[in-house]
Amino acid sequence: MKLFELLSSHGHERLAFHHDAATGLRAIIAIHSTALGNALGGTRRWAYSDEAEAIRDVLRLSEGMTYKAAAADLPMGGAKSVILATAGNPATEAEARAMGRFVETFRGTYIAAEDVGVTPQFVDWMAAETEHVMGGDSVSHGGDPSPFTAQGCFNAMGACLQNLGKPVNFSRLTVVVQGVGATGSRVAKLCQQAGATVLVTDTNVANLQRVVKELGVGVVDGDVFSTPCDILAPCALGGVLNQQTIPKLRCGIVCGTANNQLLDPIEDGANIKKAGVLYAPDFIVNAGGLIRLAGLYIGLSEQQINEKIRHIESTTAVVLRDAQNMPSAYEAGVAYAKSRIDRGRSNKKATMTPA
Ligand code: NAD
Repeated sequence: MKLFELLSSHGHERLAFHHDAATGLRAIIAIHSTALGNALGGTRRWAYSDEAEAIRDVLRLSEGMTYKAAAADLPMGGAKSVILATAGNPATEAEARAMGRFVETFRGTYIAAEDVGVTPQFVDWMAAETEHVMGGDSVSHGGDPSPFTAQGCFNAMGACLQNLGKPVNFSRLTVVVQGVGATGSRVAKLCQQAGATVLVTDTNVANLQRVVKELGVGVVDGDVFSTPCDILAPCALGGVLNQQTIPKLRCGIVCGTANNQLLDPIEDGANIKKAGVLYAPDFIVNAGGLIRLAGLYIGLSEQQINEKIRHIESTTAVVLRDAQNMPSAYEAGVAYAKSRIDRGRSNKKATMTPA
């Protein structure tokens, strides 16, 4: 693996590795961009098959955070961290505190939060070692961001329907949700409350049964990608839209909370468009949690935060409109985010120029 080539190919600024001998923690922090400010991004704790997979994941996730923050009009950069866990080993306070000390070495350039495998309790343990962490229940503030992520995703679905010239009326729609964890279960609930017929699937049987019991929704029968529906909401892990799955899709819209849904953003982004499926870029759709935590970190009011989460609908609408003249919605989303970064850079320069 040519690390510097990997870093320069997507414009990453920094990749830092950490090993804590006492706890065995192996973790990586990737800073993609600080062009607009310090960078907030979750910590993912996952049993990666090898180190290369973890490096690729943290690089892609951190790049996505740059676009997510910029598109949400936050004065923040993009970063992310991963912990290389061993399957079956539960997280401990000692491990979380070691991670907190690693985060602290960045002195606020990187602000950690939860992601897959990291709970608000883990975040609070990290917060014993660093103030640069958000999303805990008590020590660190902000709480679980997933309700805000789910709300933003639901707002984006409205923009998708309008783009297809359909009324924003869920009562005649079928929504399929893949992964009913923290965000997916809430997306399912919002769609159901709006009147949609909701079908769910999850590899974790306990999660699946809990949500089916709580909401009374149906379970996907067979392959999730070939299930006929109006909206498919991928709310589990990334890479689910690829050469194998795109030809199977029988939905009009893909709009979900999962990060990095396109395995190959350029090729699969173009292929899903050619397949006639409207794809709402994940980093626009799932910005609600970031808006919440970054908003609190930089001192926005509740009202300003909620306004920004409402704005996810109009941002999605603009990006989907731009995408009509571009190879893919992914590229339209990146172009939109980059235009915000350029504008932010020139505003920064203007304020730094002596009068
Ligand atoms: P979570 O761990 O709470 O839920 C994920 C669920 O997906 C779990 O129930 C898991 O069993 C299930 N799952 C995993 N693989 C699956 C598969 N192949 N098929 C079906 N189900 C599967 O995670 P979450 O917080 O809901 O996050 C989900 C996705 O959304 C992740 O990609 C995450 O990075 C992204 N995201 C989350 C937030 C947030 O606020 N939590 C914000 C932005 C993006």
